[in-house]
Amino acid sequence: MRKLQKKLSIKYGKIAILTHFNPDGDAIGSTLGLSQIFTQMGHECSVIVPNDFPGFLKWLPGAEEIISLPGHEAKVAEIIEASDILFFVDFNDIRRMKEIREPVSRSSAHRVLIDHHPDPVVTADSVISDTSVSSTAELVYRFIVENGLKKYMNKDIAVCLFAGVMTDTGCFSYNSSSPETYKVVTELLRYNIDKDRIYYRIYDNFSCDRMRLLGYCLNERMECFPEYRTALIWLNREDQEKYHFRTGDSEGFVNYPLSIKGVRFSAFFIEKKDHVKVSFRSKGDFPVNTFSASHFNGGGHRNASGGESVESLEAVLEKFRGLLPEYREQLNDYED
Ligand code: 5GP
Ligand code: MN
Repeated sequence: MRKLQKKLSIKYGKIAILTHFNPDGDAIGSTLGLSQIFTQMGHECSVIVPNDFPGFLKWLPGAEEIISLPGHEAKVAEIIEASDILFFVDFNDIRRMKEIREPVSRSSAHRVLIDHHPDPVVTADSVISDTSVSSTAELVYRFIVENGLKKYMNKDIAVCLFAGVMTDTGCFSYNSSSPETYKVVTELLRYNIDKDRIYYRIYDNFSCDRMRLLGYCLNERMECFPEYRTALIWLNREDQEKYHFRTGDSEGFVNYPLSIKGVRFSAFFIEKKDHVKVSFRSKGDFPVNTFSASHFNGGGHRNASGGESVESLEAVLEKFRGLLPEYREQLNDYED
């Protein structure tokens, strides 16, 4: 575990808050929470994301202000150039910022990393990195308290941070055994947030097409490998067109195979325009972050990681299936 905490003196004017490609609930909740604190303090603050984010996060307070690429390159460059401080939120590798890296590389602003992924390789002037927390949102709340900013907390900010903790723990089903997480959640609930409503606005927000696509995936696109305690799901471009695929529609698909008795390792492959995006999940000690880093140009957490490949979907699937025998012992080495 690596933990580096530093108090930060925030005496800067303009702030840009940046997060990772394919932003998830934690990325969006954390950046929105932080930005609303700084806005309350009187700073000019922008949230910038490298690509669009799922519709089920667009109702979060402040989400309408988020600037996403592609399409706003000049504006993003201008904001980053004018910023005195850049926050890097919820990622441990600068490459995860994709096209935002370019304007960032030209900026001499003070850089602050707030993240919970292992082994950060981001160069920053202040590093707030703690792999023991459930989510970056939990860390953001602690950052707020430790820096004497709690007086700027409000209900909207609590909603955003709660959404971050909830989504990064799969509604408190993994990565959420620390009592500290519940202390933070207790504090957030004190802002009178409607926890049940946050849940259903995020998880009960899908289209009919998305539900049918899930059914189709489980029926037609799932492969099980009981001897390796592994299952995978794949989705090609045609499948996505047929079901009118929209950003976020495949969110959570990777988790389904883990509910099969005995399955410890789950993978999801989705064909994009110019690459294949891969997601991995595991139960127990099987480290999907190192697996992804070794074979799929990715990384993440021990039990949740992702990666990508520019090879064809067929080649990527073949590669994955071919790797399983190498991990047979490791994958069978767990107690249920
Ligand atoms: P997801 O499968 O939901 O996209 O991502 C799961 C976890 O893996 C997240 O913590 C995310 O930050 C990380 N991750 C996803 N894709 C990549 C990738 O391409 N590279 C790296 N380094 N991490 C990734
Ligand atoms: Mn996270």
